[in-house]
Amino acid sequence: MIRNIQNEEICPRCKSQLQLLRISKAAKLVDVREKTIYGYIEEGSVYSVKIAGKTLRICKGCLINPYDPFAVKKKAL
Ligand SMILES: [Zn+2]
Repeated sequence: MIRNIQNEEICPRCKSQLQLLRISKAAKLVDVREKTIYGYIEEGSVYSVKIAGKTLRICKGCLINPYDPFAVKKKAL
């Protein structure tokens, strides 16, 4: 049986099931500029991974999880 490993991965930061978003998609989702998303990555408030050494993806859970203090802070902004 072939399992999709990515679907079973848990984000080490927000502990939700890992769903990775492109930066552009993430920015649209929370209605901020892409630059802001990069800021979140730099300050470590979202979990990010590099795919194939160049494409950056971030965790959807970190961005929208209401139980995540960082996410709550972002929604208030
Ligand atoms: Zn996360």
